Amino acid sequence: MQRRPGPPARFPARLPGSDPPAPRPAAAAPAGAAGSAPSALTGLMRARMVQRLAAGGMASAPVLQAMGAVERHRFVDSALGNQAYEDISLPIGLGQTISKPQVVARMCELLLGAEVARAGGLGRVLEIGTGCGYQAAVLSFLAREVYTLERLRGLYDKARDRLRPLRLANVHLLFGDGMPGYAKGAPYAAIIAAAGGDAVPQAWCDQLAVGGRLVAPMALSGGPQMLLVIDKTLHGLEQSVLEPVHFVPLKSGIA
Ligand code: SAH
Repeated sequence: MQRRPGPPARFPARLPGSDPPAPRPAAAAPAGAAGSAPSALTGLMRARMVQRLAAGGMASAPVLQAMGAVERHRFVDSALGNQAYEDISLPIGLGQTISKPQVVARMCELLLGAEVARAGGLGRVLEIGTGCGYQAAVLSFLAREVYTLERLRGLYDKARDRLRPLRLANVHLLFGDGMPGYAKGAPYAAIIAAAGGDAVPQAWCDQLAVGGRLVAPMALSGGPQMLLVIDKTLHGLEQSVLEPVHFVPLKSGIA
């Protein structure tokens, strides 16, 4: 079933500035909210995750800062909390997964490479596939506004509950099919897909700003799923195919 996304769930409190938000020390939920591990311990685990990302070649300081700030263990079920900072993907329910930290970092770094981002920071970003909301929270540190769409009601509800205590006022969570993009927020400085299809929907390219960048896993011409980067330039679209990846399928409609 195709349906237009409803109005975004907003998380009032921290008002977005006109510039991309400066890295904040922590996107911590109030004490006693989700998760049971002491914050000193999870802080240490997160610092180690960031060290591993840097040792593995991640050189983007804003990305490392953002990933050091978001409490990843709060986005997975508490039984998996102790694995949240390992470099593995984890189940988030309804057959979906949260990407491993290294992949989240890589995609964020690619978005920051958009021409418009290099010129003056990332403006509006559209994420297709909110999942648990983790990547949207990371993006909230890197972009001025984050529009994120999820097609599964169960995951949308969970992401809303997980994002709310973080009070990230620049994250706009939407329930709906991301195939047609989200025209109301367009043009986007960047579009990121967290699920892989076999062709980039035309709407995504249409909704990209000139100087903007799209990053998506795609299995082109029946080949293996690869990370794809599309830059929209004054002269048209420029596509680069990067490394192989393994994302859950991009599906049409809502459920
Ligand atoms: N970035 C996410 C990863 C989510 S997994 C995180 O941090 O958790 C990919 C998600 O994409 C799944 O939740 C899946 O339901 C969603 N998805 C797949 N096709 C979609 C579509 N057409 N529109 C919106 N969401 C979609």
